[in-house]
Amino acid sequence: MDWTRGPTIGRGSFASVFVATSRHSGDIFAIKSTELSQSQSLQREQKILSTLISPSIVTYIGYTITSENNKFMYNLLLEYVSSGTLSDAIHDGRLEESAIEFYTHQILQGLEYIHSSGVAHCDVKGQNILISGGGAKLADFGCAKWINPATKNDDVAATIGGTPMFMALEVARGEEQGFPADIWALGCTIIEMATGESPWPNFSDPVSVLYRIGFSREIPEFPDFLFDQARDFLGKCLRRDPKERWTAKELLKHPFLWESNFREKHILELNSNSPTSILDQGVWNSIEEPESLDATSQ
Ligand code: ATP
Repeated sequence: MDWTRGPTIGRGSFASVFVATSRHSGDIFAIKSTELSQSQSLQREQKILSTLISPSIVTYIGYTITSENNKFMYNLLLEYVSSGTLSDAIHDGRLEESAIEFYTHQILQGLEYIHSSGVAHCDVKGQNILISGGGAKLADFGCAKWINPATKNDDVAATIGGTPMFMALEVARGEEQGFPADIWALGCTIIEMATGESPWPNFSDPVSVLYRIGFSREIPEFPDFLFDQARDFLGKCLRRDPKERWTAKELLKHPFLWESNFREKHILELNSNSPTSILDQGVWNSIEEPESLDATSQ
């Protein structure tokens, strides 16, 4: 597919993300790119994402290798998700409980789907949840791994990754990182939504936070203003023993999420107008950097 690379929409530690347009159809999509020689993580993300299809997961379109400015680039083509990250959505310090419930339900649907497909995300946090007109989508599968139920581990699953502030005790101790660690990180993300802060706001240094998570008896503080059902839900996510943590499937039946079915439908009806084509709306105008580069896949 021929496409034109547009402005940068995000930068992570592994890659840069650009908006792009198909020259043929005018469709808009996102391109996550890095130099081919440093693209192992992006290639692993491609292998995992290409097996997953769900409305709660950023949609994989394909990959290409391009030659640009005398460099070979590895590019992952993804659905363009128009409304930024969940962290961006926390404008005034915190989200309302109904919004927390709505996004939690959607993240959990994504987690239930990937866990039942044998994949652990391993880096659930507000920055890795993208918001579209229809709701929240799990993105950034750069740390994701297959969990092999036969051996409980494989070469890739043996590595530990992610973001220290969102790590469960067993991950902080370097013991294991599987589905329960995603549930712990979901609990931390609920705290992020409820407070606008990290789950361990008094720590900025990753080493001391890892030590605190792994070797104290503490769990992150629950925000005072959350109602009983939300606090109970959080308690099921933030159990220190991974075997006692509820699974995604169990949590989907928790009363905290019962009402969000209604809200979900309501919000979906209201917001079905994300841009998919350059003709849809002035999407380029809303993005700051004006540089543009043509690229042809090889
Ligand atoms: P990290 O350092 O967290 O591992 P990364 O290099 O893996 O990051 P991503 O987290 O996938 O990169 O993307 C970086 C940013 O780019 C996101 O926070 C988001 O703002 C933006 N972004 C990523 N994918 C998309 C997409 N499909 N649609 C719109 N924006 C996106």
